[in-house]
Amino acid sequence: MRILVVEDQAKMAQFLKKGLNEIGYSVDIAETGASAESFASSCEYDLVILDIGLPDQSGLDTARHLRRDGYEGPLLMLTALSTTKDKIRGLDAGADDYLTKPYSFEELNARIRALLRRKNNSHQVSNSKLTFSDLEMDLIQRTVIRSGQEINLTAKEFALLEYFMRNPKRPLGRVNIAEHVWDIHFDSESNVIDVYVNLLRKKIDSPFSKKLIHTVVGIGYVLKDDEKNS
Ligand code: CA
Repeated sequence: MRILVVEDQAKMAQFLKKGLNEIGYSVDIAETGASAESFASSCEYDLVILDIGLPDQSGLDTARHLRRDGYEGPLLMLTALSTTKDKIRGLDAGADDYLTKPYSFEELNARIRALLRRKNNSHQVSNSKLTFSDLEMDLIQRTVIRSGQEINLTAKEFALLEYFMRNPKRPLGRVNIAEHVWDIHFDSESNVIDVYVNLLRKKIDSPFSKKLIHTVVGIGYVLKDDEKNS
């Protein structure tokens, strides 16, 4: 799941990004309304978190522009304003929900879950579930099942597996994995990707005879279910 956070205060944006990363969401940050619009036009987001007070335009305008440009996913507004009138204006501009600052991260997370659940109930139910071979992943419930057996993953392992499941049979390079799952630029000296892939293999593959995560020599890894092992 990828979330766009539109927030001009760097500290607040980093706090959100860190917290959301920790629970397994990928996050992009836009600091202005204009950059939010350009992010949304080049990448598909499962959710947008939008601050009302932005340097170049009001978050209300940004919300309207995102809707006008075809963004249909959930939009959560963050606002320091807490009068009923302000909330109504936010909802009228296209927001699905709002949260008044200061808020707790726990509450934000609960709202996100509710919005994603609602989104998946109203349309594209299949979007909340990814399946590959006998492996099933529920992105809303945050559960992974292989051959009917539930597998507990950490947030990072979950995000890593989600990336594999979204790109089945495609060899994924370490650089790609690092950028998508860790939002970092890959340092070739680091073996963090291999360490995490091995942790994931222990849970996803070790208990089963058919292996799904394979090494692609010189590149990285691929999720596939044919028997040609590597
Ligand atoms: Ca602001």
